Amino acid sequence: MKYRFIPHYTEEEIKEIQIQGLKNTIKHAYNGSEFYKQRLKDAGITPEDIRSLDDLKYLPFTTADDLRENYPFPFLSVPQKDVVRIHSSSGTTGKRKVLAYTQNDIETWKNMMARCFELAGLNEEDRVQIAVGYGLWTAGVGFQLGCEHFGAMALPLGPGNLKMHLQFLLDLRPTCLCSTASMALLLAEEVQKLGLNPDEISLKKALFGAEPHTPKMRKRVEEILGLEHTFDIPGMTELYGPGTGLECMAHMGIHYWADIFILEIINPETLEPVSDGEIGEMVVTTLKKEASPLIRYRTRDLSRKIPGVCPCGLKMPRHDKILGRSDDMFIFRGVNIYPGTIAEVLEKFKEISSEYQIILTRKNGVDHMLLKVERSKGVSKDIDANLAKEISNALRKQLLVRVEVEIVDLGKLPRTFGKSKRVIDERED
Ligand code: AMP
Ligand code: ZN
Repeated sequence: MKYRFIPHYTEEEIKEIQIQGLKNTIKHAYNGSEFYKQRLKDAGITPEDIRSLDDLKYLPFTTADDLRENYPFPFLSVPQKDVVRIHSSSGTTGKRKVLAYTQNDIETWKNMMARCFELAGLNEEDRVQIAVGYGLWTAGVGFQLGCEHFGAMALPLGPGNLKMHLQFLLDLRPTCLCSTASMALLLAEEVQKLGLNPDEISLKKALFGAEPHTPKMRKRVEEILGLEHTFDIPGMTELYGPGTGLECMAHMGIHYWADIFILEIINPETLEPVSDGEIGEMVVTTLKKEASPLIRYRTRDLSRKIPGVCPCGLKMPRHDKILGRSDDMFIFRGVNIYPGTIAEVLEKFKEISSEYQIILTRKNGVDHMLLKVERSKGVSKDIDANLAKEISNALRKQLLVRVEVEIVDLGKLPRTFGKSKRVIDERED
């Protein structure tokens, strides 16, 4: 396969680019940013100490707290006159994260996104309906930049406004949708409600980012909209924005742009790298970022590297889908639980839809978990009691805690244009 945007590096070439990029980044950050200089000095490191990729492990970690403490220009390593844009992400607590970009950073990002469209098999004839947020967020502008650079037609609708999305689906016939999986589900269900069939719209592909989604959710959207392929697209504001990699058509993991950043997977407790293929926290070091370089930045996202070469032939390495964030974990009756683990258990029950909501309450000092799920289309209410019991048993087996399961009608759980909120914690501290 000949690509226009995706480079055909061998493993060796990638390694060489990484070593050079690591050296450059450390030198650049050390000389350009007081914060980094101090952090590296504290760790007893000067740029000359970096000689091989093995030296990565001596570098100090950086975190979202470092970003917030150095608000509003954390990690800034170039004079402010070279900054052409900023983006921001709300984060979950405290101050916003603000990230700066030079013109070269924008070029790199645009190229990363163009690679994604290329790997998804689009061409210049494609029309891309962009249904993610525009403005301060990286999402809208990232997809837009990449789409235009790639040469396809961007339809920059943003999220929300279902009526307009539907009108565009029918009139402008986009062939590719870029959205969260939640937004795609909302749109698909609206298409279904209106009784439209896939032939009346021309969508063939979709790129889902910003939140984890399950195979069930994907399948439902694919079926209703008649899609040929859907792709998981990861990304984060700190690392340019969306488009740090993409699934290829083999759908066996996400190829990430290893010539643009180094990915490490560490054990979040010991901070040591895990062995190849094991799950841990993703830690990223950028190789050519100018304005806000990242050195061993702890993303809090959990995933694993996928060893071996992908059947598609592309040598860019792969990581698994993002399985969740370490800060998504909640403690219930002393047990650490990730929503993703619950989603995995639910995946096996075809009688329920892809949607679920976890409600945590505390009565008389005792924690209680209520899990709401939706009955799939065509499934009779008569089996509710039995089904609830079966789901509860399966969860108990997996999580070792008791969960009350309530089955509601299809479409009763909240739908969203953005990222779905799966856990509602009403317990008081
Ligand atoms: P933001 O801070 O708004 O840039 O959001 C970045 C975060 O969104 C990441 O750190 C992930 O936790 C999450 N995220 C982004 N893309 C995906 C994806 N494809 N799958 C799962 N989570 C994602
Ligand atoms: Zn592949």
